[in-house]
Amino acid sequence: MISSRSVIIAGNWKMNYGPKAASHFAMEIVPKLGQLTRQNPGLLCILCPPAISLSPVREVMDTMPSPRLELGAQNMYFEEKGAFTGEISPIMVRELCTTVILGHSERRMYFGESNELVHKKTLAALTYGLRPIVCIGENEAQHQAGQTEQVIHTQVQGSLAHLPTELAKDVVIAYEPIWAIGTGKAATGKDAGKVASLIRQLYGTMYGDESAVALHILYGGSTTSENCHHFFSHPDIDGALIGGASIKHDFVEIARKANTMV
Ligand code: PEP
Repeated sequence: MISSRSVIIAGNWKMNYGPKAASHFAMEIVPKLGQLTRQNPGLLCILCPPAISLSPVREVMDTMPSPRLELGAQNMYFEEKGAFTGEISPIMVRELCTTVILGHSERRMYFGESNELVHKKTLAALTYGLRPIVCIGENEAQHQAGQTEQVIHTQVQGSLAHLPTELAKDVVIAYEPIWAIGTGKAATGKDAGKVASLIRQLYGTMYGDESAVALHILYGGSTTSENCHHFFSHPDIDGALIGGASIKHDFVEIARKANTMV
């Protein structure tokens, strides 16, 4: 982590917590996260509940506002409105959220999302003033075959090329090795840091040094309060995208640890 970039701790609740349970959990963690983020303006926490639970979580957050505790969606479509059954648009997301997770490996894997689609969504998010957290990462077979660099290169180019240069700095990239997601088998801080450095370097060749320095890069994959310091201590890693631990109180612990390292 370096001081000119915020530390971002984002929680991807995935398909957990409907409106009532989400509201209940938010009432437990929002005061604690609010306090942490108010203490330290370099820390940004983002909660990403399922789409149906965004509104109730927003309501809880509005009762105790903290400018560095934000709400994010887990996905959206790139069109503004229209006949796209089941989808939500950037304008709708923008009413409640600052952020949207895009191209999560589960969306790529189960819903066939391509780099091309992720690119369209990223452009839409930036255009409508949302902060996209764009997920990339290699799978187990690619990892074993030593293809990580190539996969990262293809995903960064495919999902993030040709964005307006003035907006490129607002992107957040989450490096999430698929083999580490939900497996309890996190990458080492050293390996994750190496990939984060590669991503930053690549981004520099695409958008210049200024954008590369401004780019936030998160690690994701079985992060817990026990292992998070391995990632947070690397200069190219600016926080974490957290799945399993984000629907527990461990999320607050992770934010607390990040807070001490900013
Ligand atoms: C994720 O789904 O983005 C993720 C990082 O999950 P987990 O922390 O459970 O591995």
